[in-house]
This record gives sequence, C-alpha cells and structure tokens, in this order.
Amino acid sequence: MNNISIIGGGIAGFVTALCFEKLGISYRLYEKANVLKAVGAGIWLSPNALQVFEWIDPDLLEEIQNSGNTFNRILVADHKLKPISDSDQDFVKQKFGYTTMAIHRGKLQKILYNYLVKEHIVLDRSFKKYVQNKDRSYTLEFMDGDSIRTNSIIGADGIHSPIRKQLFPESMIRYSGQSCWRGVADYEIDPKLASAGFTLWGKKLQFGVSKLEQGKTYWFAVKLSRPNQKDDKETLKTRLTELFSEYHPIANQLIQNTPANTIIRTDLSDLELLEKWHSHTICLIGDAAHGMTPDLGQGGAQAIEDAYYLSHFIANTESLEVAFHRFYDRRKAKVEKLVKQSRTTARIAITNRPLEIIRNSILRCVPDRFMQKQMMALYEIDRFHS
Ligand SMILES: Cc1cc2nc3c(=O)[nH]c(=O)nc-3n(C[C@H](O)[C@H](O)[C@H](O)COP(=O)(O)OP(=O)(O)OC[C@H]3O[C@@H](n4cnc5c(N)ncnc54)[C@H](O)[C@@H]3O)c2cc1C
Repeated sequence: MNNISIIGGGIAGFVTALCFEKLGISYRLYEKANVLKAVGAGIWLSPNALQVFEWIDPDLLEEIQNSGNTFNRILVADHKLKPISDSDQDFVKQKFGYTTMAIHRGKLQKILYNYLVKEHIVLDRSFKKYVQNKDRSYTLEFMDGDSIRTNSIIGADGIHSPIRKQLFPESMIRYSGQSCWRGVADYEIDPKLASAGFTLWGKKLQFGVSKLEQGKTYWFAVKLSRPNQKDDKETLKTRLTELFSEYHPIANQLIQNTPANTIIRTDLSDLELLEKWHSHTICLIGDAAHGMTPDLGQGGAQAIEDAYYLSHFIANTESLEVAFHRFYDRRKAKVEKLVKQSRTTARIAITNRPLEIIRNSILRCVPDRFMQKQMMALYEIDRFHS
C-alpha cells in the first residue's frame, strides 16, 4: 500500500515530490502523460518560487537560472511601450539574492523530472476515481483498469482536477471572459529590453514579453472573447497581426517570428474559492485547489509554495489530517488574496479608452515604496527548522 499518492506531474506534483524526497516522506506520483514533451511556452518564476528551489537543492536553482533569463526590471507600459509602472528589481535582489526570471515550461519540467527518483514516478497512468475502504484507506482506480491502495491522496491534477470533481462536486470554474495566445519566437530582443519582463496594456488588449534565452523570446497576447473558440492555423498569425497593428512593432515582430503551429490558445479561468482544500486524508494543491488567472504570474509560484508548506506540515505533524488542516490554514489568506487580485488585474488591464486614461494616470502616481512593499510581502516565505 502507498503512503501518499500524488496525482498529477505538473509543477505542483513534481515540486511536492521533490520536497517529499528532501524530507524523507514516502510517496508515489501518477501522471497521465506518457512522455514529458517540451510543450508550452514561457513561465515567469518569482523569488518565492525560487527560494523553494534553493531550499530543495542549490544546484537545482542554479540549473533553472542558467536555463532561463533573469529580469532586473518589471515593466507595465501602454500599447506604444510608454511606461505606466516600471519597477527596478534591485531591492528584490538585495533581499533574496535573485529576482524574477523566465524559462521555457518544457525545460523547467524536464529539469524538475531529472532531479526526481524515477522509481517513485509513474507516467502514462491516468486517475479515474477513488473509493474509500473500511479501514479508511483508499483504492485508486486508473483508466487502464489498474488499481492500487493508498493511505492518502494529493490532488495536484490542475484546474480541471478529476480528484476535486469527486471530492467537491459543487466546485465551479469561472471563465474570465479573456482568451490568451502564447508563443516562443525565434527572435533576439533589443538588448535594452532583454533583462525586463514587460506587459503592454491598451486597445482592449494585452501583450506580454520576456527573453527566454539566446535567440528565443516568449510572448503572450490576451483579448476579450467568447469561450471555446477555435483558431484556423492558416490565418491565425494574420489575425493576431491585425489585432496588434496599433501596438509597438515588437508585438508583430514576435508574432511573425513564431511558427503558427506552436502558438497555444487558452481560455483564462479561475476557480471559485473553495471552503476547504482537504477532506479526511485527501488534499488538493496548486491549480486543483486555487486556480487563478495568470495576470500576476503567480499560479505556478503558489503551486510551488504549496508543495513547500504541505511537505513541512506533513513532516512536522503526527497525523495527515491535521497536517492538511494546518496547510490550508497557513496558505488560505495569501492564495485567496491573489486569486481576487489576479481577477481584478485582468479587468484593469483590458478596459475601454476613457478608463484606460484614468487607470494609467493613477498607476503612474503609485509611489515606488508602496509597490516595493507589496512585492516583498508576496515573495516572502516561512523558514522551517527541519
Ligand atoms: C496563459 C498562462 C500563463 C501563465 N503564466 C504563469 C507565470 O508566468 N508564472 C506562474 O507562476 N504561473 C503562471 N501560470 C499559472 C500556472 O501555469 C499554473 O498555476 C500551474 O501550471 C499550476 O500547476 P499545477 O501542477 O497545479 O497544474 P497543471 O500544470 O495543470 O498540472 C496538472 C497535471 O496533472 C495531470 N493530470 C490531470 N488529470 C490527471 C489524471 N486524471 N491522472 C493523472 N494525471 C493527471 C496533468 O497531465 C498535468 O501534468 C500561467 C497560466 C496560464 C494559463
């Protein structure tokens, strides 16, 4: 019988597994994909996430940093690249030793996988349902007809989590009204912008950019849309180019230098806040527990924080049920605030012209000190003595 079974080998699942290895907690992880493909575009990793990697293994942090690109500026600008808010990240570097960085998701996933003990990872195993046994353990049933017994289940299976659907069938995914395209362009960005992560807001659209590595630049484009729309790959680049024709030329240069068949479209949603993330010895983490829109670039970072806190509470608490309860108590306030702030930011980023002018004037007046305080609070994580 397994002690703990983690369902899902995304960021939350893999980082939980790495934290368990570090703290000597026995587990097995089941991921439905049969191979780890280099899919996805870029992801920004903020210092709260990087501190967890450093705690797991300083070599892991170094490998991640060497495979991506570090920012010394985080910039929000209007559609012509005129700054609205421009945050020099020196104060972050002084405090934590590093700042936010961007990396290709596929690369990140491969690096994490390489640090895992492979005997504990089962790929090509899709969870179907769980059944509680008389001794309070669970039987996990998989799509291939196989089943195993386990004391406990961690649902790290993403925003559409099948575990959550069984555990909390009333939970609701909320479409934000916005759709997002992401790509990696074969494009060397202007050196002046290479160490900035930046987002352009305007014309009821949003366009984000960051260098990933030599000759590769990550971009994302967001627009209001009905859900479940499909793209014609033949015309997609022309449509996106038209959409961003009034933007700074960098937007269209990036779109033009990205192969159409690698552009990913995602409808942006979040999860209506849950009253709890656990029941008995089943616990949800990451997007399965608190999926948020990507407007603050914090969904992945919060999944990584979850892994860190959950593993410490399990290591330091006699009972799994109590550990899960402590985990929820500690994480709830920060995560719920971010879910709400991300949704609000989505509305502020894409708005009509009169509100845009008011928004830009207000944001240009926000004192640096206020922004810095907010960022510090976001990036801070607890230190455990274990
Ligand atoms: C457009 C966009 C941009 C974003 N940008 C950022 C960013 O810059 N920074 C950031 O921190 N966050 C960002 N995020 C958020 C981030 O991607 C998510 O928060 C993060 O991926 C959540 O990780 P997770 O492991 O919880 O879920 P997922 O990444 O969804 O992983 C879930 C895993 O579970 C597996 N799975 C699902 N069902 C089963 C099953 N039945 N059996 C077995 N396995 C299963 C899946 O195959 C998958 O591997 C962004 C999100 C979007 C949509």
